[in-house]
Amino acid sequence: MFHTQRMRSCPSSHPFLKNYVRAMACGGGPPTHGSGPDLACGKSLASLTATITVTRAACPIQPLPPITDPAALLFENNPRRSDTICLVPAMSTALSCLLTAATNAGGTPSVGSACRPAAYNRHLGNVWTKWVKELRDNNNPACAALRSEVKTHFNGHGLLRSQRPVPNSKHITGEAVDVTIRLPSAQIDTLVAGCQLRRPLPVKDRVHFIRR
Ligand SMILES: [Zn+2]
Repeated sequence: MFHTQRMRSCPSSHPFLKNYVRAMACGGGPPTHGSGPDLACGKSLASLTATITVTRAACPIQPLPPITDPAALLFENNPRRSDTICLVPAMSTALSCLLTAATNAGGTPSVGSACRPAAYNRHLGNVWTKWVKELRDNNNPACAALRSEVKTHFNGHGLLRSQRPVPNSKHITGEAVDVTIRLPSAQIDTLVAGCQLRRPLPVKDRVHFIRR
């Protein structure tokens, strides 16, 4: 390993430092000394390039598991996709009732997530855990690429730090639906009760409805 101490003692114009900066800028770790002769401050950039090998330290955090399920990929490629076709019949009826009631009350309802393939739900859980627990506060340069990738997923799926996607979501079985309604909370609860629906988490997850 080329000693940091010696490197720091080189003038800033020195080719090794230029190379060092370049190696860092390319996403690798600091260049390490190869098996060649000791690198002295007087070497030319060409000879340094020949003897320095840049080693990229591996990020200790595992990458996101890839999505292979075709149904899950439809959602992955369009995170705002809303699929109400596979809701169980009772939920489908309740949703129609809710949309009519909320519209009549001036709540301009909009349906968000309805049915969700199991593999997609798993992906959401993976993204949440990777971002919130492993990468959000991670400043290891070796993890920078993974961090930015996971952040893109987290934001793209509209996930919230306060709300971890649950593994056994009723969305998977077509028994839950997310509906945004622009009405006061108490009014929403009265209105949905008439449609045999309720909100299990009216504060933490105000858009999530299941059957009573
Ligand atoms: Zn994703």
